Amino acid sequence: MKRKITFLAGDGIGPEVSWAARRCIDATGVGIEWIDKEAGDDAIKKFDTPLPEETLENIRETRLAIKGPITTPIGKGFRSVNVALRKELNLFACLRPCRSFEGVKSNFKNIDLVIVRENTEDLYAGIEFASGEPQTKELIEKLNGWSPKKIQDNAGISIKPITPEATQRIVRYAFEYAVANGRKKVTAVTKANIMKFTDGLFMAEAQKIAKEYEGKVEYEDRLIDATCMKLVLHPEDLDVLVLPNLYGDIASDLCAGLVGGLGVAPGANIGDDIAVFEAVHGSAPKYAGKNKVNPTAMILSGVLMLRYMKEEEAANRLEAAVESIIRERKDVTYDLKDDRQDPTSVGTAEMADAIIERMKTVKVSV
Ligand code: NAD
Repeated sequence: MKRKITFLAGDGIGPEVSWAARRCIDATGVGIEWIDKEAGDDAIKKFDTPLPEETLENIRETRLAIKGPITTPIGKGFRSVNVALRKELNLFACLRPCRSFEGVKSNFKNIDLVIVRENTEDLYAGIEFASGEPQTKELIEKLNGWSPKKIQDNAGISIKPITPEATQRIVRYAFEYAVANGRKKVTAVTKANIMKFTDGLFMAEAQKIAKEYEGKVEYEDRLIDATCMKLVLHPEDLDVLVLPNLYGDIASDLCAGLVGGLGVAPGANIGDDIAVFEAVHGSAPKYAGKNKVNPTAMILSGVLMLRYMKEEEAANRLEAAVESIIRERKDVTYDLKDDRQDPTSVGTAEMADAIIERMKTVKVSV
């Protein structure tokens, strides 16, 4: 029986890269029944909202989706459709593996890191109070009454909730991932020395969970600023990083930079029994409809999805084909060429075609 998977093409460059990924996944031969649903621009046109209930309901049924990037509409009631989708479906873990590929230009070699980002709370909870609003002033008055440190009355306020439950859940996920994937170390990253009641809580809960894995996976905690320096000086000292939402967002772009940029950085949003796979990059509107951008990040998100589906052989074959095409640097998009103006660079669809063709002959190392 074919596995049902919800397909959200996205907007901007979304449809180009997500269709490239869909064609590559289909070419592996894994039996999939794609269910096309709207989110982003096409959903606004049809439902007057970028994230219709019908789409969410379908993902709740199939429990598996792949999604192209979606532009955040300005002034449409959503801070970000992507953040809303993760919250609505309780996709608490954002998984972003960052691995060097031979042939991708980068100042760094042999990077092999995994970012596990908490997806549901922290400063991304969306609890904000605008400067000058009566409610904000009332809140500031209350806070000034409770704390010896005073907030200026025209400040804007963003709230940073961190709970023991969400922290335990994400840290346990990071350890389980490490065990399942033969990784050696989990590093919890915070600014616990400054934000004692939020980041401090995250670190304390991480230490408790780490005890359950003693002898199986090494554990350490680090501060986010020192970790950023470590990442660019000695990335080989790090393995799996688990972080609250905001630091996770920043660190995953940093790590994408270590391996050559957003064009090659895949991602997954994972909940208890639902998962949505997507590239780290956004909808890059200026390239939309040009058949120009790199489909690798979306195709590798498809590889992560195949692994999640336990389709190991198909995942390895697709990944090996991507690696082989990138290593040759012939049938690749402009961003993977030495000179971005190189006239021999191919389009998004053509790079996907080359990967599909390569899957027929590529050798897969086991
Ligand atoms: P972006 O990732 O869309 O693009 C930034 C730049 O990165 C592009 O101009 C391009 O030079 C490069 N780039 C991105 N993807 C590439 C690819 N596949 N191949 C080659 N180069 C690529 O970031 P942005 O411009 O900050 O955001 C644009 C929109 O996307 C915003 O509305 C933002 O909210 C949204 N966004 C969505 C997601 C998501 O859907 N998960 C993630 C990030 C941003």
